[in-house]
Amino acid sequence: MTTTHSLAKHDSLYQLLSMLTGPEFGERPACADEDPELFFPESGQVAQISEAKTVCLSCPIRRACLSYALQHGVQGVWGGTTEDERRAMRRGASSRKAVA
Ligand code: SF4
Repeated sequence: MTTTHSLAKHDSLYQLLSMLTGPEFGERPACADEDPELFFPESGQVAQISEAKTVCLSCPIRRACLSYALQHGVQGVWGGTTEDERRAMRRGASSRKAVA
């Protein structure tokens, strides 16, 4: 991974945090003091994924973070989920719409 690519990924997380953590929200995301790289594990980095998810579990804006990630197709661990898990969630939502 190049530094430029990594920064681009982090930019999306910082963008979310700046949107969701203003005075109107009054909430501090649990990842605010973490190394952002923790949330962008390379494929198969199970321990890192688990560590990132553990941080997300205590995050007061977890639902908003997950919603943003589902809508924007971002990389990494967001709202306590991986890209694969969000892909499965979107597939499940599509299937339910098709049945309804
Ligand atoms: S849910 Fe996780 S990635 Fe999203 S803002 Fe909270 S700690 Fe950060």
